[in-house]
Amino acid sequence: MNPAGTDRRPDVDESVQAWLRRPHGLQIAGGRCEPAKGGAFEVEDPSIGEPIARVAEGTAVDVDRAVAAARRAFEDPAWSEMTPRDRSMLLWRIGDAIDEHGDELAELEALDNGKSKAVARAVDVTLSADWFRYMAGLASRLEGATIPVSMPFAPGSKWHVYTRREPIGVVGQIIPWNFPLLMAAWKLAPALAAGCTVVLKPAEQTPLSALRLGELIGEIELPPGVLNVVTGFGETAGAALAAHPDVDKVAFTGSTEVGKLIVDAAKGNLKKVTLELGGKSPNVIFPDADLDLAIPGAANGIFFNHGQCCTAGSRLYVHEDVFDEVVSGVADAARQIKLGPGLDDATEMGPLVSGEQLERVVGYLSSAADEGATAVAGGSRHGERGYFVEPTILVDTTPDMKVVAEEIFGPVVAAMPFADPDEVPAAANQTIYGLAAGIWTRDLSTAHRMAERLKAGTVWINSYNASDPAMPFGGYKQSGWGREHGSDALHEYTETKTVCISI
Ligand code: NAP
Ligand code: MG
Repeated sequence: MNPAGTDRRPDVDESVQAWLRRPHGLQIAGGRCEPAKGGAFEVEDPSIGEPIARVAEGTAVDVDRAVAAARRAFEDPAWSEMTPRDRSMLLWRIGDAIDEHGDELAELEALDNGKSKAVARAVDVTLSADWFRYMAGLASRLEGATIPVSMPFAPGSKWHVYTRREPIGVVGQIIPWNFPLLMAAWKLAPALAAGCTVVLKPAEQTPLSALRLGELIGEIELPPGVLNVVTGFGETAGAALAAHPDVDKVAFTGSTEVGKLIVDAAKGNLKKVTLELGGKSPNVIFPDADLDLAIPGAANGIFFNHGQCCTAGSRLYVHEDVFDEVVSGVADAARQIKLGPGLDDATEMGPLVSGEQLERVVGYLSSAADEGATAVAGGSRHGERGYFVEPTILVDTTPDMKVVAEEIFGPVVAAMPFADPDEVPAAANQTIYGLAAGIWTRDLSTAHRMAERLKAGTVWINSYNASDPAMPFGGYKQSGWGREHGSDALHEYTETKTVCISI
């Protein structure tokens, strides 16, 4: 579809098409505006590799404007003195707006990212709304403490000491393309609940749902400048945001490589940094596991969202007694997955997000073949048009192969047998990452012992990829800094102030 033209797509809802055709500017200080340098870039539908919209290309000058708007909003009593109750109600209404526009947001997500619209509606949209509602509750839980003190240097003195939790200030948030709407919700909901103001930079590949969300939030009368959206490229807009001297905190989700650049950029004013980075998560099947659950669980652990999950269970460790059965079960599941465009109701797996991502994943598949791994199912690109890859399960791998050591971020799992359960933690922990892990067993002792020994921010037992706004989430090692979700998330957006009174 020509974004500025008149091509009609019978598969796309008319109102969504009309919205796509509009010029998409930056959202600063409560209004849509043109980027200072006037640039724009095309956003494509990865199922056909053709453009669907044009979006403003924000640069450092626009980031400056957005940060200034966020600073003004942060200091404006309309936001800074809003009661917890009113802030809570605003967040709740954002959740409602997401639900009300759920079909439209799911359609945008399917077109922009490639994922199935049905999945986007059931998972991405539903969870995004939930995230705002959960954080709506936390907006009235910014509690401090009263602290008994001794002060032995002043015998007989009396003190009243308490802490306040205050919003950090202006927050820059930089998000990836794998769950465009949900990543925006994960970031925005706790920041707003804490009373921060935000400049959000969506991924260049998938800016559409964040722009639509920004419009919906604007309609429910969040004070202007509390949320600003600057679309653009990481190297320019993202880097300017991370380095900005008037940004108090940067929250980043993306690759470990870029996470390290964020840390460097943040040094200038020592802004606070939280990072949700990559993973190479182990999923471990013990011989006593219920294979009727474990096999589909392992398949879903890697193939959900086309493997484009930071938590993807991409290293599958299986006890040798059940190895063949598990490999053949996961391979069958892989072969049965129906690939197609996200808007097709029959589609179970869409394309990868971009040509670049396709090239990257196919590169890993050829390196696996070159290094001697065997693809039991999949192993190649699917079709000629769009960025589809076959769901793939590899065997005959060794720990030093790139496909075992590096994050692929595609539907590719390496299955490896083990003999002694005591070998598992060392093998599973042999990675620079530590985001998540899965354990499949009926034995309570095995489950709890392994949960303790695996170095990962989340350990799922007899499930995988289950996600809830109440569960703290984040990485050990090079998978990140800090935790999102739950009350932990709120703490990452607040400073603790100690007030010490001699009475
Ligand atoms: P990426 O290349 O690191 O990009 C993430 C975001 O950072 C994008 O908005 C990107 O902008 C921006 N960016 C790029 N270079 C930058 C720079 N120098 N300064 C500031 N910002 C910059 O990651 P991706 O390939 O889009 O996403 C996949 C990665 O995200 C995987 O490693 C995955 O594991 C990770 N991830 C982690 C989590 C988690 O919660 N731990 C969740 C989802 C994904 P542009 O793309 O617009 O240029
Ligand atoms: Mg990128």
